[in-house]
Amino acid sequence: MSDRVTVLGVGFDNLTFTDAVETAYSMIKHERAHTIVTPNSEIVYAARKNPGLTDALNRADLVVADGIGVVYASRFYKTPVKCKIAGIELGEALLKKLSATGESVFLLGSKPGVAELAAKNLCGKYPGLSIAGTHHGYFEDDDSIVELINKSGARVVFVCLGAPKQELWMTRYAPRLNARLLLGLGGSLDAYAGISKRAPEIWIKLGLEWFYRLVKQPTRIGRMLALPKFLFAAMVDAAKRGKV
Ligand code: UDP
Repeated sequence: MSDRVTVLGVGFDNLTFTDAVETAYSMIKHERAHTIVTPNSEIVYAARKNPGLTDALNRADLVVADGIGVVYASRFYKTPVKCKIAGIELGEALLKKLSATGESVFLLGSKPGVAELAAKNLCGKYPGLSIAGTHHGYFEDDDSIVELINKSGARVVFVCLGAPKQELWMTRYAPRLNARLLLGLGGSLDAYAGISKRAPEIWIKLGLEWFYRLVKQPTRIGRMLALPKFLFAAMVDAAKRGKV
């Protein structure tokens, strides 16, 4: 695994997208369940005041920067991460590989009906993909979900419960799951289901996906105001550590 680049106390693996997909896939071959987290600036900023979340992020086997804000902030530390790796894209690239190998995936999260719709769309897009099971993310009995996933025989679980719930859930239940890989992928099932749309390619390339999401969902303004605060906090942190 690459040396981690620490941004505001959260260590990021410094990989290209292709390497991240290969690393994720290689984890399926191991004996224990590995975890992958995809924090953006909002999650890293929230982690400053949530030691449980910081711990869950740093204990993950692969941590990628799902946001241009983290990529910019890493530059203050003079060891910038190579690129943004969107969880939604990492998840999809992995599904493509799984569709060729036959290893199955369980989709956990989002509102009732969404995971099933995502499964249908993904199976249409990636013939051969094996969906071991689905369940919405508004459950109360964790034990029954663990049992359901174990009974499904899934090798991989997409845990899409939003932060910090998904990171804490994965850390807590990974030891009890027979799956080999758990990925915390936020709102990805909504996108795979076609309920939420990603920004057009050009906006993503220009690093303006956050702005597109804001225009589409103005209620995100409160969450997004964390970005300038995050960048400032990272700058101060980097200066304190003598990295600038
Ligand atoms: N969610 C869930 N269970 C919960 C809370 C949230 O399944 O108890 C889902 C929610 O329906 C949405 C996702 O988690 O599909 C979070 O999406 P958001 O866009 O907030 O995630 P982000 O990727 O921005 O962290």
